[in-house]
Amino acid sequence: MEYKRSSELFASAQKVIPGGVNSPVRAFKAVGGDPVFIKKAEGAYLFDEDGNKLIDYINSWGPLILGHAHKPVIDAVIDIAKKGTSFGTPTEIETKIAELAVKMVPNIDKIRMVNSGTEATMSAVRLARGFTGKEKIIKFAGCYHGHSDSFLIQAGSGAVTFGTPNSPGVTQGTAKDTLLAKYNDLASVEALLDANKDDIACIIVEPVPGNMGCIPPANGFLEGLRELCDANNTLLIFDEVMSGFRLAPGGVQERLNVNADIACFGKVIGGGLPVGAFAARNEIMDYLAPVGPVYQAGTLSGNPLAMAAGLAMLTELDNNRGIFESIDKKTKYLHEGMEKALSANNVDFTINRIGSMISVHFGKEPVTDFESAANSAGLGTFNKFFHGMLENGIYIAPSAFETWFISDALSYEDLDTTIKVVDRVAKTL
Ligand SMILES: *Cc1c(COP(=O)(O)O)cnc(C)c1O
Repeated sequence: MEYKRSSELFASAQKVIPGGVNSPVRAFKAVGGDPVFIKKAEGAYLFDEDGNKLIDYINSWGPLILGHAHKPVIDAVIDIAKKGTSFGTPTEIETKIAELAVKMVPNIDKIRMVNSGTEATMSAVRLARGFTGKEKIIKFAGCYHGHSDSFLIQAGSGAVTFGTPNSPGVTQGTAKDTLLAKYNDLASVEALLDANKDDIACIIVEPVPGNMGCIPPANGFLEGLRELCDANNTLLIFDEVMSGFRLAPGGVQERLNVNADIACFGKVIGGGLPVGAFAARNEIMDYLAPVGPVYQAGTLSGNPLAMAAGLAMLTELDNNRGIFESIDKKTKYLHEGMEKALSANNVDFTINRIGSMISVHFGKEPVTDFESAANSAGLGTFNKFFHGMLENGIYIAPSAFETWFISDALSYEDLDTTIKVVDRVAKTL
């Protein structure tokens, strides 16, 4: 495939945009080469600036669970845009999407809309601190909660220790309040709770992590977090920005039947427009301004375009619950097909999957946390795999630390094409 125009556009972009991109994951830094510039998209396919057609397994990093340019979503946005894009006043559509979200997600009474997943998790932690009167938080190495300061902390050697910033610009003062635990390791959480008695406001977790590849929670892990939080007067925050409205209508809380105190959303809830949200029971949500003392605000929060896209998306999912089963089945089909193709070519691999979240790791060892994900990805095999797939018209995330985002627009023919390409690429690994 030719990528001449994409390369030219990338060269121009780099002169006026840092790294040529408005979000780092879009650059192909981890895998090498220049990113592909997209001109338009429809259903399961991307069409790039050089006229290549690609089967898309990123889907805008998750939001487009029904594929690109999904008609009910596009129509809703066009209709409402004609009436004005933002008023800075309450509108009826905000209540409508809130009612629907509260109906679909278990264990929440109220929801507040923001403009990104980053804002949702940042606000949720402030709310947890305000509600509990405690300062420290526990997060897990390898979990991503957006780019606000408290979360840009990753494990050094000996993961269960005080955090150190992994981005310049995050102060030690902020970093010291974020404690790091190991995903799927309850003992690491218990040790932190014991060492910081009565000082932990919340534990925040991707209940099914998708930002170190996809990592299913071990049996009892999420239930264990729930019990530890209850025993320590600590709030449990599920960051369902990726898993929400994907793994079930009510996210992981519904699928795995574990209740969080605060749930964060993003991606699917915005239908492809910039939306995030956080939600909880009344006693917690009423701690927010203007009812309660914890401040949180947004000039464009709940704006009509974003709400129309989100409402159209959630309405589709709510009215057609078979979609969740359908994408799970398609992902399982892809899983089994890739497994066969990679095995037949004697490639060492591990495929992790839960529902429509799936990732391929090029090592034989189980991938259960950040450490095992990092070790498995370190081989350079993924980069070869990525470029082989792209060369054959399959667009997967340009990093081994990402889930594939399956959309229901994918047909079984698309999946068969993909599996054939995996077989072809596997021969070159
Ligand atoms: C994408 C993501 C975020 C950040 O959302 P943005 O809209 O990019 O700010 C937070 N948490 C999780 C689990 C995510 O996958």
